[in-house]
Amino acid sequence: MERFPSRRSDAAGLAHRSAPAGLPRRTSNATAEPATAIAYRIRPADPHAHLFEIELRIAHPDPAGQQLALPAWIPGSYMIREFARHVVSISADSGGRELRVRKLDKHSWQVRRCDGPLTVRYRVYAWDLSVRAAHLDASHGFFNGTSVFLRVLGQERQPCDVLIEPPEGPAYAGWQVATTLPEAGAPRHGFGRYRAADYDELIDHPVEMGRFTLASFEAGGAVHEIAITGRHDTDVDRLRRDLAQVCREQIKLFEPRSQRAPVKRYLFQVMAVGDGYGGLEHRASTALICGRNDLPYRGMREAPDGYRTFLGLASHEYFHTWNVKRIKPQAFADYDLRQENYTELLWVFEGFTSYYDDLMLVRAGVITRDEYLKALASTVSGVLRGPGRALQSVAESSFDAWIKYYRQDENSPNAIVSYYTKGSLVALCLDLTLRAQSGGKASLDDVMRLMWQRYGREFFTQRRGLGEDEFPALLREATGIALDAQIKRWAYGSGDLPLAKLLAGTGVALTMKPAESGNASLGARVQTREQQLVIATAYQGQAAQRAGLSAGDTLLAVDGLRVDERTLKTLLARRRAGDKLRIHAFRRDELIECELTLDAAPATEATLKIEGRLNAGKRRLLDDWLGKEKPKPSFSRTGAARPRPDPAPA
Ligand code: ZN
Repeated sequence: MERFPSRRSDAAGLAHRSAPAGLPRRTSNATAEPATAIAYRIRPADPHAHLFEIELRIAHPDPAGQQLALPAWIPGSYMIREFARHVVSISADSGGRELRVRKLDKHSWQVRRCDGPLTVRYRVYAWDLSVRAAHLDASHGFFNGTSVFLRVLGQERQPCDVLIEPPEGPAYAGWQVATTLPEAGAPRHGFGRYRAADYDELIDHPVEMGRFTLASFEAGGAVHEIAITGRHDTDVDRLRRDLAQVCREQIKLFEPRSQRAPVKRYLFQVMAVGDGYGGLEHRASTALICGRNDLPYRGMREAPDGYRTFLGLASHEYFHTWNVKRIKPQAFADYDLRQENYTELLWVFEGFTSYYDDLMLVRAGVITRDEYLKALASTVSGVLRGPGRALQSVAESSFDAWIKYYRQDENSPNAIVSYYTKGSLVALCLDLTLRAQSGGKASLDDVMRLMWQRYGREFFTQRRGLGEDEFPALLREATGIALDAQIKRWAYGSGDLPLAKLLAGTGVALTMKPAESGNASLGARVQTREQQLVIATAYQGQAAQRAGLSAGDTLLAVDGLRVDERTLKTLLARRRAGDKLRIHAFRRDELIECELTLDAAPATEATLKIEGRLNAGKRRLLDDWLGKEKPKPSFSRTGAARPRPDPAPA
């Protein structure tokens, strides 16, 4: 099944390459002996059945019986996923003698003791079209090492070879490989042998295979590649140009003098699908999934709203190359892949990254100041809509990410706050405070640079991370300004942030108005599901909950008239706070009738606008913060910004 038609021609710097027909799909060294004591061979054994087959050779297995395990989670995505559940078969032998493989727990196996080299063969089911796991069909293959490479217990620090082979058959002629795993004989973008310095590196370079569109650009002395898989009609040149600007802006932030990228080679792996959104950061690459219509097309004048979303996602994951892949919390210096790894600092690593992702777009000039402020306003609104922000701090949200942020349910808006969105506003408040108190001489950029110099640059040799309580002192050291009390309130407390005051100091006016068209509110978030109007969340203490309605209830009629999303909106516009409504609803199959007293609609919708007349001081602060206004953005757009979902959970 052929799935990747390409209408692109080769342009400068753009290489859509297909191997000529008849090219041997195995490279000459493919069958040569591996040079390492641990060697994997991975092959898409049956694309239609979504099965990868892996052979693992261990030259010096544990004489007491080798233990093997798959990670319970993938770094960057803080949820226990138990990848071992997709292992469908496993066997082992030594010198042709079959050895018993015993399951120890849900993640681990033990192979019966043997004297000589050990070979383990297993199959992994790969049918998760996300950036977190593995996916295989006749159109392409994608895997993270956490899904397919068994960890050899006790030998995690050993270098390992990986022989990546193509699927058998003429249907797969011309398949290529896109990964930043270091080549050990494989040609660039080819099947063959790759090598990782240790298991930690092995699982940090996902692999894409198939026929994809390739483009490249240079930034900070490093080759940056974009590999787009899936049906799409992207204006690759435009994408390349915009991403190059964003990458250069970030490199300039961390390395203003040398302007050197943190890696020699970087890869954006883009999976274009009908509807999808997500990204996962790695040390030299990122896996992104996006709607194909969010990518730019040729001749596009006004970018679709989704394109800013895509650029923001790419910017976010690229920023992680510094912040979380190299500057890490100490708790992540050596991941424990068997269980949750707790830190209160995800607001620094995800929140700050979320702050800088869009900020880098405006500083790079790929979005305008108005577009940036619209996006920021939508983040402010999103945070203010959730009553849970009064119960949970971003530090607590970080710690409990495993059981709360990543496992949201109907009550989440009442119970939790996002360390992404509120974390990004904490970053904004810190940044604006530093700029105001120093008269523009210090900023959060200085803090990022000090963290980079202290922890990031040498992370892979020193493995030192930011301690749980070190951040306030580090900020002081970087800027000469003490914000310990503010950090305590903003990141470890659950009060609202002084956004309006801080923004005003930089010449930006924040105004708030109610979300709904009228002044009355049901106190619930409603959704249309299977043509029925359903309460998605009944907000804590608000009208719907007081009336006895719950998440999951189906609204049938208000004041005796059938309701849908449109008629409910119209009705609310004609009512006032304090008015009573007679509601008919179903809870499961039981009819409920209740009286609901409308609330005043809370003013949660933020608008941000640069003040009309700025004095010289404010103008300078604004220019320092957002970058000098660019004469011509690379695209212009109209309309409101679409709120961008957090990159991680689905
Ligand atoms: Zn992130």
